[in-house]
Amino acid sequence: MPRTRSQQPIIGITSDFNAGDKDRPGGREPTYFLRARYVKAIEAAGGLPLILPITDRRKEIAKLLDLVDGLLITGSGPDLDPKLYKEAKRYRFKVMSRERTGFELALSKLAWERELPTLGICGGMQLLNVAAGGSLYQDLPAQLKPFLKHQQQAYATESSHWVNVEPGTRLREIVRSPKIRVNSSHHQSVKTIGPDLIINARATDGVIEGIEAPDHPFLVGVQWHPEFLYTTDPVSRRLFERLLVIAGRR
Ligand code: MN
Repeated sequence: MPRTRSQQPIIGITSDFNAGDKDRPGGREPTYFLRARYVKAIEAAGGLPLILPITDRRKEIAKLLDLVDGLLITGSGPDLDPKLYKEAKRYRFKVMSRERTGFELALSKLAWERELPTLGICGGMQLLNVAAGGSLYQDLPAQLKPFLKHQQQAYATESSHWVNVEPGTRLREIVRSPKIRVNSSHHQSVKTIGPDLIINARATDGVIEGIEAPDHPFLVGVQWHPEFLYTTDPVSRRLFERLLVIAGRR
């Protein structure tokens, strides 16, 4: 839905949500929460961040999308329910709340139909893949036994492994290098990609670290956390900046 807004694109950001798990922020009290880095990264790239509330009403989801020029689907501690990619849950991990899962799946599908510029980070990338019909490794160390440590010891402001970036992809255009250093804080990853997606990046052990939709103006997912790196790493900064540039063209 094109509108005339020349200056500052508005980027809708999904928030984490604790439905009442006593061990998560807010405890038993249902609570929205979001690391400020996501918001700051959008601001630093010239955008106006808008944190989105969760709703299961399709009409309201459509209205929220009317308000924004782009989307940032953020990560999550808990993981997607494997039922969403037709698998039984085989490992011990917390499952993302029904509320957040339903909202983000509906939001990203509708955003995709509208060709709204969308960046998925970590769990956000995994969600985009599952929304597109792909699947995940439920537990990388157990299932794939990669030789890299994808749950790095160092804080996420440090990078810890290399990623090879596929030539001819949107990501490659953004990072301008065949090889980049990234941080890594995930125990799941993309297993099979949705039919309209391509893989744009892999860690040196083969783990999928990025996906994108080639027939979309900007639908990119990365498995690492550029919001922890953008202040020091030009590649991470350019990822947010590109989202803003494409969002600004709408
Ligand atoms: Mn990794």
